[in-house]
Amino acid sequence: MHRLCPINAEKRLRIAIDGPAGAGKSTVAAEVARILNYTYLDTGAMYRAMAVLALDKEIPLDDFQALGKMASSVTIKAREDNGVFRVWIDGEEFTHRLRGPKADGAVKILAMAKPVREILVPIQRGLADCGGVVMEGRDITSVVIPHAEVKVFLTASLEERALRRWRELGNKGITAEFGEVLSEMEARDAKDLERDWGKLVKVDDAVLIDSTNMSVAQVCRSIIDLCEARHCCFTNSPDGFLA
Ligand code: C5P
Repeated sequence: MHRLCPINAEKRLRIAIDGPAGAGKSTVAAEVARILNYTYLDTGAMYRAMAVLALDKEIPLDDFQALGKMASSVTIKAREDNGVFRVWIDGEEFTHRLRGPKADGAVKILAMAKPVREILVPIQRGLADCGGVVMEGRDITSVVIPHAEVKVFLTASLEERALRRWRELGNKGITAEFGEVLSEMEARDAKDLERDWGKLVKVDDAVLIDSTNMSVAQVCRSIIDLCEARHCCFTNSPDGFLA
């Protein structure tokens, strides 16, 4: 059992985590949020919801102006619920439609649309405003909350990230060629690194964590150590949070 002892209770940090697909950001961000009793914010889910909506409305994904108009004309609500990040658009829940090949294919393109990013980024900033959040994505440390108290660039080797994705698919009963998963991962990296707006970068003051040979618990421990170094103490347990 972890103990939550907010010695510096008023100081609720903003923890920003960026990194490539498959680096383990969602798992780690949700777990760190759980341990610290913070809120987990998955910005990728918001882009995914927009992509699914664009498919529903049959808006061409290369029409960035139309996508921006669509994004500005709807009400987006998002919140964490027991470690699951839920998204509603105009009151309709999209949470269960965000994963899968269709959403994956569409969001890669939609994420390049500056007019959509201009709508989502201020909403994400608003969600982070009060602190006590663990927010993950691609442009969190660079664009969304560049003044976050704790900034992390979480990565892992391409092979390890592809392996994790391949295993994840296997656990869902989906058979896939490892080589295909690896190529798909490589293509996603290229899209994240090359777009003009909100591309994936490691900002100078983000701490690099390479999780290739680390367990989830070890990565969480490293991030919590960074929080503690920010003069924020959460526990008086000698063996830490993760026991
Ligand atoms: O993290 P996830 O794979 O769910 O992200 C879905 C898509 O949204 C990816 O294509 C990613 O590049 C994009 N994204 C983004 N900016 C963010 C978070 C995700 O462009 N802050």
